[in-house]
Amino acid sequence: MGWPDRIRVLERGWLSSNQLVFVDDDGASVLDTGYVSEADETLRLLDTALAGMPLRRIFNTHIHSDHAGGNAALQARHPGCRTLIPPGEAQAVAAWDTTALSHDRLSQDCPRFTHDGVFHPGETLHLGGEDWAVLPAPGHDHAMVMLWCERLGLLASADALWQRGFGVVFPELDGVSGFAEQAPTLDAIGQLAPRWVVPGHGAPFGGAAVDEALVAARARIAWLASDPRAHGLHALKVLIAFKLMAARQLSRAALTAIVQTRLDAGPGLRAALADSRGEPPEAASLATLLCAQLADAGVLRMAGGVAESTR
Ligand SMILES: [Zn+2]
Repeated sequence: MGWPDRIRVLERGWLSSNQLVFVDDDGASVLDTGYVSEADETLRLLDTALAGMPLRRIFNTHIHSDHAGGNAALQARHPGCRTLIPPGEAQAVAAWDTTALSHDRLSQDCPRFTHDGVFHPGETLHLGGEDWAVLPAPGHDHAMVMLWCERLGLLASADALWQRGFGVVFPELDGVSGFAEQAPTLDAIGQLAPRWVVPGHGAPFGGAAVDEALVAARARIAWLASDPRAHGLHALKVLIAFKLMAARQLSRAALTAIVQTRLDAGPGLRAALADSRGEPPEAASLATLLCAQLADAGVLRMAGGVAESTR
């Protein structure tokens, strides 16, 4: 990649976010730590990248379980390490409010960790020998931040922009505006004109691929904003695919329970998926519909009433 060796990307999958590792003279820092079920792999990859160097700091772009699920394991491995998070979720982390942190309604696990401080949008961090502006990135998660290195033209975009799309716009599922925030976040990325984007998930991309990703993402946000039902179905499919990747297989009852938990906790989602008479969606039939669509997409296969992950 076209940036110094002191900045390394550990590319992961869709269960765990990528890690960005920054090497400085006094030790290393890591941005985002993956999902709990892959924490052993996160520790192993970090050990290799650090090559005996101390890990001094953990930063999180946001506190979704696939970005902060390795914090506790890394803190245990590196006792002197400081953990810094964006301010928007500091209270929820301090109180370990798993409802505010969304871990409950997503039926996802994130081992409790403590944070040592916050870093704010507008601040500049010095990581890997470079200056990084902390930028707000509302939409997917209103408390999320991105890191921008002007000198390298390198953006760590978290879940605001992937090569194909962006993260589910979760506030909308809770009945809170989110599409109206995601669109300006994409515009802000366009204004930066990054040479490289290191997304929260998927391979880094650069050059013309950045413009293509932005064009596609802008079209997608316009479509989702005009069709909240499509966004709601997409959100539930992402959730089921995530749970399946972690569990490998899930019974019909377990799938229905996951959908029911999400519907119960999401007034915006319930409204988006209500039928034409305004009747609330029914979890079991929704789970059946979503599994059929995910099977068509090759994400799972159904065998004797059990969904099995194909990824
Ligand atoms: Zn996220």
